[in-house]
Amino acid sequence: MDIFHHIWIFLVKLLNSQSLMEKARNQAEQDKKYMQMAISEAQKALKEQEVPIGAVIVSGGQVVGRGHNLVETLCDATAHAEMQCITAAASTLGGKYLKGCTLYVTVEPCIMCAGALAWSQIDRVVYGADDPKRGYTTVEGRVFHPKTKVEKGVLREECEALMKDFFTKLR
Ligand SMILES: [Zn+2]
Repeated sequence: MDIFHHIWIFLVKLLNSQSLMEKARNQAEQDKKYMQMAISEAQKALKEQEVPIGAVIVSGGQVVGRGHNLVETLCDATAHAEMQCITAAASTLGGKYLKGCTLYVTVEPCIMCAGALAWSQIDRVVYGADDPKRGYTTVEGRVFHPKTKVEKGVLREECEALMKDFFTKLR
């Protein structure tokens, strides 16, 4: 191989790594934007004296489902934000599987919601605050569908603050 070939390969690699970085940056921006929408959903829950947790589901850059915690309103222990959101998205998309979709939720999903998300075969789950008491990571073993990618900590402080304020005022 001559020197020009080496230079050529170097340039191609450089361009590839830059476009990957660009992609990651865009993804991070998108994640923040949609998490902000999930926070707006959580604020709706707060106004209704519900534990402030909100969620949105996005497919191809479109919000296809929204939901917030409605446990008290519906008097239903299963009326978590994610459950509302999964039902809404399936109804919008006209199919039970949420392939190609991302769920954004302000707090780490519980085992029930993680199980429901597994059944939906969703592509990606992004959450803000950890839930060390009731989150799905308190359980050993794989809960999500093997193809589901998980990301946490997006707008963590905002998501945590909502929960902290709510529970402080309760006391
Ligand atoms: Zn849940």
